[in-house]
Amino acid sequence: MAICGLEPVPAGDDDAGMSPLDRLPFDNRTARLPETLFARVAAQPHGRHHLVHASAEALALLDLPPDITADPDFVEVFSGRRVPAGAEPIATVYAGHQFGIWVPQLGDGRALLLGELVNRRGERWEVQLKGAGRTPYSRMGDGRAVLRSTIREYLGSEAMHHLGIPTTRAAAIIGSDGPVLRESVESGAILVRLAPSHLRFGHFQFLYYSGRHELLRELLDFAIALHFPGLAALPDTERHAALFANVIERTAQLVAGWQAVGFTHGVLNTDNMSLLGLTIDYGPFGFLDAYQPGFVCNHSDDDGRYAFDRQPSIAWWNLSAFGQTLTPLVPVERLRALLDGFSEQYAQAYAARMRAKLGLREARDEDEALLEDLLGLMAGCGADYTNTLRSLCDFRPGTGPHALLDTVADPAGFETWLQRYGERLRAEASDDETRAANMRRVNPKIVLRNWLAQRAIEQAENGDYAGIDRLLRLLQTPFDEHPEAPDCYGEPPDWARSLALSCSS
Ligand code: AMP
Ligand code: MG
Repeated sequence: MAICGLEPVPAGDDDAGMSPLDRLPFDNRTARLPETLFARVAAQPHGRHHLVHASAEALALLDLPPDITADPDFVEVFSGRRVPAGAEPIATVYAGHQFGIWVPQLGDGRALLLGELVNRRGERWEVQLKGAGRTPYSRMGDGRAVLRSTIREYLGSEAMHHLGIPTTRAAAIIGSDGPVLRESVESGAILVRLAPSHLRFGHFQFLYYSGRHELLRELLDFAIALHFPGLAALPDTERHAALFANVIERTAQLVAGWQAVGFTHGVLNTDNMSLLGLTIDYGPFGFLDAYQPGFVCNHSDDDGRYAFDRQPSIAWWNLSAFGQTLTPLVPVERLRALLDGFSEQYAQAYAARMRAKLGLREARDEDEALLEDLLGLMAGCGADYTNTLRSLCDFRPGTGPHALLDTVADPAGFETWLQRYGERLRAEASDDETRAANMRRVNPKIVLRNWLAQRAIEQAENGDYAGIDRLLRLLQTPFDEHPEAPDCYGEPPDWARSLALSCSS
């Protein structure tokens, strides 16, 4: 089938000399669903495209070799200029609460789902082109993404993956010489985004609030069959209740991961909440530099609705909005009881992550206060979140003043705390070397601080992609010591203190 004037690549018997890109076994099962859920859309190439960067590791998820990027078809296919056989570009429709306000119709306004690829390991990856042009859900938007925001999502999602936090992935950035107008004229780009599913809470909200409850059930069962197969055989009600329980658990784990690593998403609208509990839609996100519990990374978020320390309660709020969509299928009391479990699941997941970061093997009652007091000290003197925790890996009780005391503004407070920490470690007969090694596996040396991303972006905007390459490599091994990159784990340089991020992307 030709889609809006684009010719699919014919499948020939003799495929000698064909690019592996022509043989990609694309399938798009979402496109088999009723058409209320999506629109068939062709990409609208904008200017001339070129490769900005590709991640060999993420391409391997599609069984593509690293040198595939040298194939001229690579840019053709991933700019959307050429539709490979089996791919059926669609934009899906969803709705959502944006900053708490109900918006009855949103959708993939600038993302096209080409389809899914199953790799040799049997994993299924949806491939989306983000920034490939307008769709019926673009509203006032131009369907484009700027190079700046694309680099942030590319590096951000790969960084999160390597920090052990569930996330969408990113395989490549395709640049364009077509101008894109934001506050000023910028370069456009397309992100090749991968995820087992891009389904969001908002997809189900769209069907619930528009009264399409049969279709709602169909989409839920579609998602269960593909992503929660263990639940598929359960009877009605049980199946959908179990799905809710599963989504709650995944979301609790996800947000615990964010809080532990100091990540603020920035736009936790219900349409940016993944059904699979993945970090999705990287916009004005930020990793903490100085520990500030009320950190707001999005300068458009005047009320601080999506502040760092509000993420667990916002996740609960979003889950309650998702639970509402299940009320035609599951008794509301049952949904409420499941939702009530979120706080405890989150608290346990967070405590487990933070205990590991402090190198504590056992769980003891006093640990919560020990952690809270450390965070209080960091907040009190603006200590760097990542670096303070990383420095604790080297702590040896009873061996004289710790190097951390030279870097913080409140050495006396930290010294008293370190004494308590030392006693706590002795109480479980902690072995210094084993603990240090374990702690280095959970306290990163390198996170994607805004100013690191900004430095790579400014280089890239001048046509030099070496900064992206270097940063990606560092972020792929965030727990290593990286003595070769001292410029990537210090506190923000002065020029970075005024960096402001908004939703504009
Ligand atoms: P976001 O805040 O980036 O998650 O986007 C919210 C909604 O706006 C989604 O439905 C997006 O698809 C849509 N959107 C954002 N930017 C654009 C754009 N430049 N063109 C079209 N739609 C957009
Ligand atoms: Mg979004």
